[in-house]
Amino acid sequence: SEVTIGRALLSVSDKSGLAELGKALAARGVELVSTGGTAKALRDAGLEVKDVSELTGFPEMMDGRVKTLHPTVHGGLLAVRDNPEHARAMEAHDIGAIDLVVVNLYPFEATVAKGAERDEVIENIDIGGPSMVRSSAKNHQYVTILTDPSDYETFLGELEERDGATSLDFRKRMAAKAFAATAAYDAAISQWFAYADQGETFPQTRAMASNLVSTLRYGENPHQQAALYVPRRVPSPGLPQAEQVQGKELSYNNYNDANAALELAAEFAGGKPAVVIVKHANPCGVAQADNLLDAWHAALECDSVSAFGGIVATNVPLDGPTAEAICKIFTEVVVAPGADEAARAAFAAKKNLRLLITDGLPDPRRPGVTQVVIAGGLLVQTRDNGAITADELKVVTEREPSEQELKDCLFAWTVARHVKSNAIVYARDGATAGIGAGQMNRRDSSRIAAMKAAEAAEKYGWDQSRTVGSAVASDAFFPFADGLIAAAEAGATAVIQPGGSIRDQEVIAAANEAGLAMVFTGMRHFRH
Ligand code: 5GP
Repeated sequence: SEVTIGRALLSVSDKSGLAELGKALAARGVELVSTGGTAKALRDAGLEVKDVSELTGFPEMMDGRVKTLHPTVHGGLLAVRDNPEHARAMEAHDIGAIDLVVVNLYPFEATVAKGAERDEVIENIDIGGPSMVRSSAKNHQYVTILTDPSDYETFLGELEERDGATSLDFRKRMAAKAFAATAAYDAAISQWFAYADQGETFPQTRAMASNLVSTLRYGENPHQQAALYVPRRVPSPGLPQAEQVQGKELSYNNYNDANAALELAAEFAGGKPAVVIVKHANPCGVAQADNLLDAWHAALECDSVSAFGGIVATNVPLDGPTAEAICKIFTEVVVAPGADEAARAAFAAKKNLRLLITDGLPDPRRPGVTQVVIAGGLLVQTRDNGAITADELKVVTEREPSEQELKDCLFAWTVARHVKSNAIVYARDGATAGIGAGQMNRRDSSRIAAMKAAEAAEKYGWDQSRTVGSAVASDAFFPFADGLIAAAEAGATAVIQPGGSIRDQEVIAAANEAGLAMVFTGMRHFRH
């Protein structure tokens, strides 16, 4: 099952490591055949190379669209060498066997990522390359296929060990990798047609074409396996990198929750200092204030019971006093775009606390896709990056919201889109007063949020719940007036919701009756 390499065909866009590989092959007496640019690079390295056009009897033509698509090439790759009929065909048509193929493809994804025009993108769909890769990988019984420069060294080690030959086991492994490469390549092309070419932006998450970063101890639960991947090939412009400064290894849930917290904190980028506390991917306290410490206290007061073991994110670098305050309660993860010396020193005393420092905040309005695996399929959608501005709000009640109510409405709305549906968020003076998440009906979410606010009032000895005089946001329309009435009973004076229910008139009438000001956004934010 060992095959000695006598002839190699090299055709690569990424020419890294090519000269070294070519030299090592030449030193073993391997005949080198190559396409235009690759042949030139090899000749520049002082090597003797035969042009593919000499093999095929055809020049490379049509802007390189047709270079290697020829029976002399594909016959040499696909022939079953111990099949007498195949051997006769090779002889009759003067086809020589090719033992090694080194190909990497036109940089389709990089061309898309750099924002190239449609014509250039189309031209970067490699046709002959994948064909050679697939022919060679199919015929791995005889042919070695290399698609990744990082495999050259292992390959040369294999030749060294086997006196110029490769083992079937090695060829199989490289064939598997080759098909993974062409599958990822075609997936990228099909996604470009599905999204980018429809005016959408190129999706940035593709598990299929991703690199493993690390396996995690376990998944959402200890009996589940888990790993972290990041997209390969496509750079993610504008997405921050995080560095873990201290603390235990991040778990699956830590990653998920830290991401949820950071994505919400990012909504306040460039604004006043904001603190987000997340539990089980839902915020349990969010606040914005003139300084970070005040924001922390206001966020904590929303639901201090749930904040235990929470994930904290901020929109500005951490300072010492805030870090010290955070350390007073058990916190799993803190993620922030920076931390000063005093903050780092405060956290250092809490060895297990995972501190993540990012070099920026993700753009909440960035394009992209999200994926959910379902039984027998994969559900893919573009990210919920829709947003409305204050001028797009439609006042539907007799009373207009006051300036403060409007501010609190928008704050509550921003938080609500990050809360699992059904989401009800009460907010007052730039802080959440109560959050109702993940209930199967909107009225229950309303009640739970009000209940949490009442508990906070009792705990902190306030004379009334902070839902009194608050604005309330609902991620989707109130299908009945009951949810809105529950909010009014809790003391909310302003409401923000998408509108669009067939019972809108009923809900508006209830709002008018309760003296509420209500605005419609015209856009809903289900989050399941
Ligand atoms: P070179 O730089 O050697 O001129 O071109 C190398 C690139 O051409 C490789 O990425 C290879 O996949 C691609 N390639 C090889 N043969 C063909 C072909 O017949 N058609 C097309 N479109 N690309 C090819």
